[in-house]
Order: sequence, then C-alpha cells, then structure tokens
Amino acid sequence: MTVNLLDFDLNGLAAFCERLGEKRFRATQLFRWIHQRGASEFDQMSDLAKSLREKLKTCATIQALPVISEHQSSDGTVKWLFDVGAGNAVEAVYIPEDDRGTLCVSSQAGCAVGCRFCSTGHQGFSRNLTTAEIVAQLWFAEHTLRERLKTTDRVISNVVMMGMGEPLQNYSALVPALRVMLDDHGYGMSRRRVTVSTSGVVPMMDRLAMDCPVALAVSLHAPNDPLRDDLVPLNRKYPIDELMEACNRYLEHAPRDFITFEYCMLDGVNDQPEHARQLVDLVRRHARSGVWCKFNLIPFNPFPASGLLRSGAPQVAAFAKLLSEAGIVTTVRKTRGDDIDAACGQLAGEVQDRTRVVERMAKRRTIAIQPAGSMAQSHKEA
Ligand code: SAH
Ligand code: SF4
Repeated sequence: MTVNLLDFDLNGLAAFCERLGEKRFRATQLFRWIHQRGASEFDQMSDLAKSLREKLKTCATIQALPVISEHQSSDGTVKWLFDVGAGNAVEAVYIPEDDRGTLCVSSQAGCAVGCRFCSTGHQGFSRNLTTAEIVAQLWFAEHTLRERLKTTDRVISNVVMMGMGEPLQNYSALVPALRVMLDDHGYGMSRRRVTVSTSGVVPMMDRLAMDCPVALAVSLHAPNDPLRDDLVPLNRKYPIDELMEACNRYLEHAPRDFITFEYCMLDGVNDQPEHARQLVDLVRRHARSGVWCKFNLIPFNPFPASGLLRSGAPQVAAFAKLLSEAGIVTTVRKTRGDDIDAACGQLAGEVQDRTRVVERMAKRRTIAIQPAGSMAQSHKEA
C-alpha cells in the first residue's frame, strides 16, 4: 500500500523513514523537498540516494487534490475547488494583501455544527478531511502561486482555518497539519500567523492550548445564550460563559495576547444597540486583563436558504462605534473576492453546485469506463 507523504508532520515522516531503515536527517531532507521546494516526484530529489528514491517510489506518493475549478477575482483573490471524492468538494481561497498573503483552508467536507447563517452548515456533514487533504491545499496553493509569480520566495505568509468545516471537530487530522505549517523545515510560519477559527468546541480549545497553541478566533455571533443557541447550535453544549472561560484559559498559552471574536452581522437579529451593550457587559465580566479580545464584525454573505439578511452599513458602523467607545478594539472585515463567490460563507453554495457537477461527471465516467488517468482531464473540462 502506498502512503501519501502529505499526511505526515516531520515526526511522522521520521517514523515512516525509520520503518524504511532511514535516519531522521533523511526525513528532514525529504520534508524540505516536499514542502519548501514543492517536489512531487522522487526523482527531483537529487541529494537522496538513488536506492532510497527507488524504495520510496514503491511505497509512497506526494499526492495533491484534483482541482475541479479555479477562479480569480479582480482584486487578486484566487479560489480553488478541490475534489475530495464521492461527490464531495472543498475550497481554499488565497487573499493577497500589501503586507501578507493569506490562505483560507477547509478542514471538513461539510460541517456538523449547522449554524443558521452558514451555507456549509446547511449542507450537512460529509466527512473529516485527512491531514494530507488539509496540507495539500497549502502545498498546492503555495507552489502554484510561486510558479506563476516566478518567485522562490514564500507567497503565503498566513493561514486561517476558516474554510469549510469546524477544525476542532477534526482535531486529530488538524494538529499534524498545523505542525507542517509551523515547522521551520516546512512552511516556517509563526504561530501568530496561523489561526484556528472555532464555533466553540471547549474541550478541544483546551487541548489545542497544550498541543499546538496558534492564534485563535472564536465565532461568537451573539451576546446571550438564547440567541446563540439559535444561531450556533453547539452553544447548547458549551454555553457562552463556559466558552469565555475557555478563551481565558487559552490565552495563558496563546501566541497572541488576545482572542479574536468573529461576529457575523445579521439584519435585525444580532445587530441592535442592545446586543452591543450586552457584548460590552460580557467582555467586561470575563476580563482578567485589559485588552483580552478583539471583535471582527463580518458582513453576512446572504444565501436564500438562510432566510437572513445582511445588516446595513450604517447599522454595522453604529455597532462598531458602540463597542469601540466601550474600549473594545473592533474592526469590520473587508469583503474580498465578491465577484467570484469567494467571500466567506459562500463556499458551500458553489460547492453544492459543483458537487452535482462532480456527481454527473462520476456517472459519465462510470458509463464510459474511462481509464483512471483520464480523471484530471474530466476535471479540466468541468
Ligand atoms: N467552523 C469554524 C471555521 C469555519 S467558518 C467557525 O465557525 O469558526 C469561518 C467563519 O465564517 C466563521 O466566523 C463563520 O461564522 C463565518 N461565516 C459562516 N457563514 C457566513 C456567512 N454566510 N457570511 C459571513 N460569515 C460567515
Ligand atoms: Fe460549521 Fe463554522 Fe459554518 Fe458553523 S460557521 S456551520 S461551525 S463551518
């Protein structure tokens, strides 16, 4: 059986190499070829002994995900749709800015949390991605962009786990993927530049603080339990006060001295002055130090099945002002990639359409009984 080497962090790869009778420094060389140089063929790895390369060819691959489509927005945002099999597709989005390049990465096909305002949530849960499938999004985006921009410098400086899925409900695959991002022999990102976004899986927040503390964003969206129970059903299991305490515990280990609270602005639902005042109370009640959190107000990306609407710009500005005046650092997220549906929360809608394309293609493939190698071509046609 062949293994996909994108599935391993450096320790995992070292263990794999040991099973082949190879020393750890060989694993380091291999890891650097894969992640720093973007190699996908063992024959490219000129400083590995030919005998090792031959051995690797028999038992390992470096396997990217098939690309179903790619869209580039006029603002430079690039969105890829990847096929993860059985009619499922996930997306990654590259967002270039003056001082950084951010990749938004998916952790699951679908999501079990089922937030009312999220089109991924409406789609339901299909399955967890493997470490290789999470890492493949970064591996592919980084090396594709480098090639296009004709540079050997790093293009992606930041990763946000804000694509499809709840990363902390796929913990065992997530942590090795984060380690690949952080490893100096991998992508060498600082912990502050890798952000896990969660709807509030409290026990896993505690584990992440111990295992791999990266920057944390918490999707709050409501200032009180009845409203949050409705918008983010996971709140019934881990209510707001518990979540706030978990944030405070996380801060003791976090690479940044604040948690980012994401707050999706829903017209008439959670955007009233009263909600802002409740948030201020909440933040003060749980404050153990001065500035311990920041708010990021997200303009809602509407989709018909949600029955929800985006708050008006004056409403968002007024809400931000109330928080800021109470001493809470508040930003309003710029929407990016609007013209290609890459703005956050729009991923799944597109995916569902595409998923049907994948299903149709799969049927066509079954009928035509095409050889396996023709799959990539079918994806291009789609
Ligand atoms: N499951 C994780 C990470 C993926 S969602 C989480 O919930 O944090 C990433 C962010 O997109 C979350 O803050 C989420 O609330 C937000 N989001 C989801 N649907 C959205 C929509 N339709 N419009 C705007 N933001 C949305
Ligand atoms: Fe899942 Fe996050 Fe969407 Fe909620 S907002 S359904 S947790 S992906």
